[in-house]
Amino acid sequence: MAVQTMTKTETADLPATMDQIRRVAEAGADLVRVAVPRDQDVDALRTIVRESPIPVIADIHFNYTLALKALDAGAHCVRLNPGNIGGPDKVAKVTARASELGTPLRIGVNSGSLPKHLHELERENPVEALVTAAVEFVELMERLSFENFKVSIKSTNVPNTISSNRLLSERIPYPLHLGITEAGTKWSGSLKSAVGLGTLLADGIGDTIRISLSTFHAEEEVKVAWEILKALKLRQRGPVLIACPTCGRLQFDMDSVVAEVEKRLEDYEDPIEVSVLGCAVNGIGEARHADFGITGAKDMGMIYSRGEPLKKVPTERLVDELFEEIDRYYAAGKRVVRDEADAAKAREWLAENEDATAMTPERMAAMEAASVDEEPVRLDEELSPVAGRRFTRT
Ligand code: SF4
Repeated sequence: MAVQTMTKTETADLPATMDQIRRVAEAGADLVRVAVPRDQDVDALRTIVRESPIPVIADIHFNYTLALKALDAGAHCVRLNPGNIGGPDKVAKVTARASELGTPLRIGVNSGSLPKHLHELERENPVEALVTAAVEFVELMERLSFENFKVSIKSTNVPNTISSNRLLSERIPYPLHLGITEAGTKWSGSLKSAVGLGTLLADGIGDTIRISLSTFHAEEEVKVAWEILKALKLRQRGPVLIACPTCGRLQFDMDSVVAEVEKRLEDYEDPIEVSVLGCAVNGIGEARHADFGITGAKDMGMIYSRGEPLKKVPTERLVDELFEEIDRYYAAGKRVVRDEADAAKAREWLAENEDATAMTPERMAAMEAASVDEEPVRLDEELSPVAGRRFTRT
């Protein structure tokens, strides 16, 4: 599953474009697309392809001569829409050159630019119209003996994107690029993309993804793409931050603590899990899988690791001490370094601060186990081992 993004700079502005490409590559982009609408962009493309740390896709849209020039400039892939570059003859010229160079193409269908003969179908059944257009382009490629391509169906409509890609994945054997066109701002666009792309990815559909956001910072698109892939456990990259939603039990400024932890975690590449709990009322059970975590109260808080307390610290030192523990862990060769005296004080603090009556996962598991052990075997249980089970909760 490859993460793609697109530069927002004028491609011919080499310093700005290269700076953005380096930033998206650092953020985890596997591929970057640049717009190539003019000859001066083709000139810049030659240098970009040479200097980019990741493969570069040239987006040429309407002009087949630009597609040929982009191929000759060394683009690692060229994106075009066979429906709007002037007919099959021109598509054939591009596929012939791409074949000679061994360069792949991305062919696409956009809901806003379907071929005329599909307009009526589009009104009746927009999903079928999108898929039909994509399949027609695929058949054109096959007639031209060109199979080194991926396909994208783009729509601003999330349900249509999901349905059309599901249908297309059943009808063609080629890789699919997923995206929601003009998804919107960082907030709404991320959510729409997470719903649309997340649904398809969870179905096992999609080979490359791009999150389209209205921001000049393309690296934001990459970060969102990674969060979606991480949430679905499709790829791992960098730490995973777990944070409780907070509630009326919160006694410290968790908003700024979570933001600070998230920011500092950007410096780490390892996929460690770090948890932030707003209080210790429920113990640390729900965060017991976290490699490291913090929980706080009014003046004092605690650092823990894999469900075990490490030390208690003043609330204002929580974040600094958390990162000292994380750094100590790496310095010791990924081994948690525990000072037993500090851990004992932290355990004491936890016992004072957690709610002894709260139903933590550990307590429930222990109670159920105890209940099963102590359960007298009754006649009806002998007859039906499941029907007779009784759990006694105290
Ligand atoms: S950990 Fe504490 S503050 Fe956070 S949601 Fe749970 S009870 Fe509320």
